[in-house]
Formats: sequence, C-alpha cells, structure tokens
Amino acid sequence: MVVSLLIQLKKRLVADTIVDAQCPKCNSIWTMRMVVYQKYATLFFVPFMPNGKEAAANCHNCNAVYDKTVFTESLKQSYKEIKKLPSWWMYSGLAIIAAILGLAINTGIEESRKTARLVLTPVAGHIYDVKLEDKVFTLLKVTAVKGDSVYLVENQFIADDYSGFSGLHEKPFRSDAHAVPKKQIKDWYDSGVIRNVTTNEEE
Ligand SMILES: [Zn+2]
Repeated sequence: MVVSLLIQLKKRLVADTIVDAQCPKCNSIWTMRMVVYQKYATLFFVPFMPNGKEAAANCHNCNAVYDKTVFTESLKQSYKEIKKLPSWWMYSGLAIIAAILGLAINTGIEESRKTARLVLTPVAGHIYDVKLEDKVFTLLKVTAVKGDSVYLVENQFIADDYSGFSGLHEKPFRSDAHAVPKKQIKDWYDSGVIRNVTTNEEE
C-alpha cells in the first residue's frame, strides 16, 4: 500500500488525431484516427519518469483497429511525428528535485560564506568546531578579543565524529584561556582545522 502510493504507473492521452495515412484494409485516406498514450511513473503523485508509449489507430470507414505493433509504414511515420511533441510535464518530479537540490547547494554556499566571514572577525561568544586530528573533534570558544589577540578556551570533552559536535555544546569549557593572533583563526579555517562557527546572535 505504502509502495503503491510512493510509485504509481499511469498513462495519459497525449494525442487523438486524424492522420495522413491510408487504411491497409479498405484503402481509404484521411479516415485513420490515431490515439497515443504516454505511460509514466509518478512519485508521490508527481509525474517523475516516462515509461514508454501506447498507440493505436482505427479507421472510420471500415472500423479496423491497428495496434502500434502492426502499424504500416505510413502509420509509423504519423506516429513518429506525434512522438516528437515534447511532454515536459513528465519530468515535473525531476524538476522539483532539481529545484530542491539547487536550493540546498545555494544554502550550503551561503553557509560557508558566512563561516568564512565569521572567522575573519572573532567575537567573544563565537564557538569553533575544531578537528584536532583524525576522529578527534572538540570546540574552542572565544572568551575575549583584545587587539590582535583572540582568547580561546577548550571544551573539556572531545567527540570522535563530526556529528558529535552538537553534544559538546552542552558540555563545560576549561577555565584557562590561551591567546592566539587573529590570523591563526583564519589559518585554522583555511587548513580545515576549524569546520564551522556557532554564534549566539544573528550575524
Ligand atoms: Zn479502413
């Protein structure tokens, strides 16, 4: 049930037209009507992927019906013309996904720009996600900035993966601060030691 809601196979009428082809049975011309269905898959009810076409033709004059597997050359030619018509709607699901991805990438770029800006202007209260070495992560907090010196305290705990950072924010910091020049903060960021900056207020 869940799966059938997720992905469904559907078809939609995309053409219903009189074609310039001769009926193989009664030899009438301009009596052949062709219908074409686009088969497609939906994901959460949004058209996602084309899944082939169904086509059939019937003659007004003698009522003969032809499936696309038995199309004559002229019927095949008419079908080919119809198939050329674009059906972008089939890809609306893909377009939505592309839009979401684009947004995510933009957000990512915006985030890293913000981080790059923040490391240039250390402010008391900023907290840096720091990778000390492989699988050793901790936090450094700015306690004061005096002239060119940035005073940092280390978190008392370390995490062994990047996702453990959020937990460290709840843990206490050491009381002894050590000073580094402002440029050091930027160098750490450039070399990948500082991964992210957390601020208390919107900056
Ligand atoms: Zn006919």
